[in-house]
Amino acid sequence: MSKQYHVIDLVDDYLHDVLIAHDAEYVAAHCESCSVCAIALAEARQRVDAFAKLPPAEPSDRLIKRTLTKIVSVAVHRRRTS
Ligand SMILES: [Zn+2]
Repeated sequence: MSKQYHVIDLVDDYLHDVLIAHDAEYVAAHCESCSVCAIALAEARQRVDAFAKLPPAEPSDRLIKRTLTKIVSVAVHRRRTS
């Protein structure tokens, strides 16, 4: 019998589908038999649902212009000093 490892640190990756197939299968199977990790998975699903309900956040035109100006000034400064 192989040792079972908790998957609390992997439940978010599992939900975002970034695990390799073997690890995703392990997480799914483990959460069916471990109440601690099943709760962690349920909480992760709640986080995903909560983020999905948020309106998209766009930076203001002012922030974009200031950021681009800063990037250009740093690039010019580096070119002059190197
Ligand atoms: Zn577990």
